[in-house]
Amino acid sequence: MSMYDLEEDELVAEIMGRGARRLLVQLPDGLKNEGPRLASLIREKTGAEVFISATPAWGACDLSLDAAARLKADLLVHYGHNEFLRDGSNGIPVVYIPAKSRHETIPVIEKALQLLQGTRIGVATVVQHLHTLPETTKLLEARGFKVQLPGRGPWAHDSGQVLGCDYFGLKRIESEVDSFLVIGSYFHALGASLSVDKPTILADPYDQTARNLDQDRARIIRQRYAMVEKARQAHTFGIIVSTKPGQSNPTIAMNIQRQLEENGKKAVVLYADEVVPDKLLDFTDIDAFVDTACPRLALDDPERFSKPIVTRDEIMVVIGAWTWEQLLERGLVRL
Ligand code: SF4
Repeated sequence: MSMYDLEEDELVAEIMGRGARRLLVQLPDGLKNEGPRLASLIREKTGAEVFISATPAWGACDLSLDAAARLKADLLVHYGHNEFLRDGSNGIPVVYIPAKSRHETIPVIEKALQLLQGTRIGVATVVQHLHTLPETTKLLEARGFKVQLPGRGPWAHDSGQVLGCDYFGLKRIESEVDSFLVIGSYFHALGASLSVDKPTILADPYDQTARNLDQDRARIIRQRYAMVEKARQAHTFGIIVSTKPGQSNPTIAMNIQRQLEENGKKAVVLYADEVVPDKLLDFTDIDAFVDTACPRLALDDPERFSKPIVTRDEIMVVIGAWTWEQLLERGLVRL
């Protein structure tokens, strides 16, 4: 049995109900292996034509709407995330299936309890584990903790949910909690720790480990400070705009270009689907890059890039519009 609920029966009913005849199915990398089985099942039960996308699907920011249109698909099925853009469809209906996890959470929450600081705990998770939050809350309250769930953010559409680029709900309750507990992967918990100035504890249901991310936070903040300092030396900037529907920020990029030019810098706007560090090497006259696409590109793996790369918020520090402290106050992660 898959460790994820792929809701096959519900999907078949949805396809039949809509009378869809050609589908494009997007699965995150960890679930791609389920694609062939899903395709056979859908074809057998509905008679529809099925295309399984073999390109990466990083998030619901990354809907393959253009590909679905080219295929003349009448339904895009997106696994692993919930709705991101409320009006993101280009006329092609999108069915979101979160793929609820069947991994146990309570044993790793038990491990995390001893790492929590204070008694007021902000608890958050990703869409795969949202259904486990009532059980987690019950356990924490039984052990004397007061639990607070973050409200919805601009892209995280459920209470208690975070995305790799949306921790606004945590920011709003930051002053009311002593520490945060994030259930999910290191990626999501790290993003939380970079967004709030409170101890952040990861409870990872996949490898059943719990850890405090304070040191990781401090290390990355040092790295980012050094990156901003390097970017200050640059004369020519490449501002990266993504083609992905949920990551595309051309207006922000144009504003950054204007502000850089007002500060005596040169800037060109680059347009890319996947931001491939090797491909950026072709722009030999560019000294540093500004990432207006997924903020985690710049934050998590800066060593993949041979030149400085800063986020759309960090560039404000580079040009002197914000102080470093103001940036930290807002949090490092924002799409
Ligand atoms: S963190 Fe990046 S990949 Fe994930 S939803 Fe946000 S923009 Fe998309």
